[in-house]
Amino acid sequence: MEDHRDLNRDLRVFASDPLAGAGLPLWLPDGAAIREELQRLAKDLAHADGCVDVYTPVLGKRELFERSGHLAKFAADMFAPIRLGEDEVVLRPANCPHHALVYAADQHSYRELPLRLNELGAMFRAERSGVLSGLSRVRQINLDDTHVFCRPDQAAAEAARGLRTALRAQQVLGLRVDYARLSRRDDSDGWLGSAEQWRWAEDELRAAAGEVLAEAGLPLVDAPGEAAFYGPKIDLQVRDGRGHEETIATVQFDFNQPERFDLGYTGPDGRRHRVVMIHRGTVGSMERVVAALLERYQGRLPFWLAPVQVAVLPVGEEQDARARDLADRLRAGGQRAVVDHEGPLGARIREARRRRCHLIAVVGPQEAAAAAVQVTDVGQSHRGVVTVERLLELARLAHSERRRGLDWMAG
Ligand SMILES: [Zn+2]
Repeated sequence: MEDHRDLNRDLRVFASDPLAGAGLPLWLPDGAAIREELQRLAKDLAHADGCVDVYTPVLGKRELFERSGHLAKFAADMFAPIRLGEDEVVLRPANCPHHALVYAADQHSYRELPLRLNELGAMFRAERSGVLSGLSRVRQINLDDTHVFCRPDQAAAEAARGLRTALRAQQVLGLRVDYARLSRRDDSDGWLGSAEQWRWAEDELRAAAGEVLAEAGLPLVDAPGEAAFYGPKIDLQVRDGRGHEETIATVQFDFNQPERFDLGYTGPDGRRHRVVMIHRGTVGSMERVVAALLERYQGRLPFWLAPVQVAVLPVGEEQDARARDLADRLRAGGQRAVVDHEGPLGARIREARRRRCHLIAVVGPQEAAAAAVQVTDVGQSHRGVVTVERLLELARLAHSERRRGLDWMAG
């Protein structure tokens, strides 16, 4: 099992530069291709789930984070404020306060709830340089983040919806979830909200999780003391090969932000009621999920995620035009293809394998004459001659359906 940093030596997904700073990786073109697919997955799932998109800034006034409570609770993990004229601004440690302000920007009635806001938002952690590592511990986290604002009677259904979508994302990605955890408060101090609120929220979460987790065949483990300070949550947990345990997706109830930002809605009685806020993570942070995918697949990503889906190799100069034409047609269909015509064929094949290109398509004189290619599907150890038309069709299907590989037996 290679670590994602070792795999990156061949794959060139990200780079670090002392001039850019530790924990601030640069996404190279092949890494950006993977991230683009993940962002598209995150948006597809969010939209199918009734979320709407918002964009909010990465900087906010110091007062915003005083109001949210982050400066009181997380100041040690935040970058120091930047003076800006009369004001001070800070890089945000979380997207939630901005989403609370988006909710507060309009009046809401009970009829229009739930409102689900989604953003792939950047947030910042002033991690010490000693703990930084590849993509798994970074100072800028790009998170697929959703905040749901709903009525109390909608909370359980919203939690179930969030959990179901998070499990769906992990299934599409082929990442394993080991168990779910109901993270509750314990008897210590420092939890915000009343005992009745906590009991209600924990019961709602347990009820919501029960059905979804039974469908998925996952156990729910009780974890007193693991709650967020502002409310209980359900976490999807994974253990990696090195014995570390991580939370990869989460559904959290929040009693804190709605109070602090005075978030409400007009009920059927014409009176104002406090809204319930739920934080949801689905695909997770781009950095963490790319590291997890590289390790899970040891660099050989499923077809739809592969940075280079097809490497097109002409045997000789006479096939150059054919090879270019094939790559152009693949790209026009939305696939990622490269043409490599420099040097001996054997060396080019080795290079394509080193880069973990999903398919290697060789165009020789016979294939060119027959509008065909000699294809090696490296992951499936499949090799054969197919027509260009069939290759285009199979590649398009595997990509659009987010399948592991091409279905050579189809049709
Ligand atoms: Zn949040």
